[in-house]
Amino acid sequence: MQAVQSEFLAIDRKTRVYMPFCDLPMRPPEERVHDFEDVMRPLAEECAMWHASRCIHCPDPAPCMVACPTHNDIPSAMWLIEQGRFKEAAEIYHKTSSLPEICGRVCPHEALCEGSCVLNKYHEPVLCGPLEVFALDWERANDPYTVPVGKPTGKKVAIVGAGPSGLACAHELVVRGHAVTIFDAKPAPGGLLVYGIPNFKLPKTAFFQKWDDLRKAGIKFVGNTYIGKDKTIDDLFNEGFDAVFIGVGTGKDARMDIPGEDLPGVYEATDFLIRGNVDPKYLPKDKREPLVIGKRVVVIGGGDTASDCLRTALRLGAEEVTCLYRRTEKEMPGNRKDRQLAKEEGARYRFLTQPVRFIAGEDGKLAAVECIEMVLGEPDAKGRRKPVPVEGSNFSVACDTAVKALGYWPDPILGETTPGLETHDWGLITVVDRETGRTSREGVFAGGDVVTGPDLVVTAMVSGRKAAEAIDAYLQTK
Ligand SMILES: Cc1cc2nc3c(=O)[nH]c(=O)nc-3n(C[C@H](O)[C@H](O)[C@H](O)COP(=O)(O)OP(=O)(O)OC[C@H]3O[C@@H](n4cnc5c(N)ncnc54)[C@H](O)[C@@H]3O)c2cc1C
Repeated sequence: MQAVQSEFLAIDRKTRVYMPFCDLPMRPPEERVHDFEDVMRPLAEECAMWHASRCIHCPDPAPCMVACPTHNDIPSAMWLIEQGRFKEAAEIYHKTSSLPEICGRVCPHEALCEGSCVLNKYHEPVLCGPLEVFALDWERANDPYTVPVGKPTGKKVAIVGAGPSGLACAHELVVRGHAVTIFDAKPAPGGLLVYGIPNFKLPKTAFFQKWDDLRKAGIKFVGNTYIGKDKTIDDLFNEGFDAVFIGVGTGKDARMDIPGEDLPGVYEATDFLIRGNVDPKYLPKDKREPLVIGKRVVVIGGGDTASDCLRTALRLGAEEVTCLYRRTEKEMPGNRKDRQLAKEEGARYRFLTQPVRFIAGEDGKLAAVECIEMVLGEPDAKGRRKPVPVEGSNFSVACDTAVKALGYWPDPILGETTPGLETHDWGLITVVDRETGRTSREGVFAGGDVVTGPDLVVTAMVSGRKAAEAIDAYLQTK
């Protein structure tokens, strides 16, 4: 239910529909491609108020709220921003989201809230994402949020994985008064927010400020601890935890299984992104060596990770950065906006191109990728036309570095080391009920990518929040 109702509107809907759109303060590509800073400058207060006043306040439930996986009350937030009541706007987001300052930056808004905005019929949608970031940044600078920690219940919950699902679950559990410890294989918390999504999309400071809020709320973090190797889920119960949430994501890069894949100069996307983007002090020791990428970089794949790798390669100084994708642009799964930014920054695209072999130079390092041309054939089970190789069309693309951005799989280790925990499809954790994240093992809940397969920050966050509610109910029965 929207907190602010449309009868309070001072400007009528028709006037709002035709209010002109003023451009966002984007940094020009020739400037932003030289650093890893945010691609957009902060919105000025007047500019944010103008953009918010374009919201026509659709009848409840507004399409943007329905399309948002966490059902943020966007119209009410817009109403408050329009009037300069920025703190109250930020509070609206805190009601439904544990990571609003992150989701405002990284959600694919064009496919969710902004994609469903009625103004798309006329011109540009309301800028739900940048305005969410504006309200949360204003709050942090002027009147910081503190997590409303609940009265202690004496119950302890272990969270495995400090990505969006684990952090959201932890946040909701401390609000309910439970003591929470997060275990993670990496030295620092954040999951893909730190060890994946590049700085120019999500500045690390935005994440670490958020982490500081959670830490101050009493959430403990134990890094460098791989559950399944260093200790098991059973060990956690033996240590006195009353319930466990698993949010370990899908951290294994997919392989291509073609010759030359292990040559020096061929990288997995995650390795390339973290070594290119993350301060070495947050990296495991074996990832601290600086990347040497040469002048020509190819990125293989068509999703968001491919866009992130292309843009990282450009920022690392590569002169020729090319995406190789086996279908056409129309079939590309990645976010259109990120692809547009990559093109503006100088990335090139070669469609209907499938690598078949990595070729070494005389020094034993990668020198080229042999590819084959493709055509689109019949639709596959998902309705996407299947790429078919054109016999004899092989050609090679010279390159110093190749990055494979082809998708991710879970590590099956938790299923293998936890009696009674059911998994499927190479290690994804089976949940008995998506609404609660309850698994086949009593007291163990799961959410995020390790349940759904690779998805989004916001969907992982929502699953963590739902699981926290279910864990709270479970702990009350004990
Ligand atoms: C390069 C890249 C860019 C992306 N960009 C976007 C974007 O712009 N917008 C968007 O919405 N989504 C994006 N995504 C997807 C999004 O990041 C994920 O959907 C989301 O982070 C999943 O959250 P999670 O909590 O399930 O897992 P993760 O974020 O993957 O976190 C899992 C954590 O568990 C830890 N872990 C794993 N196994 C163990 C173990 N056995 N013991 C202890 N710890 C363990 C890992 O170290 C990690 O810290 C991107 C993904 C990638 C790879």
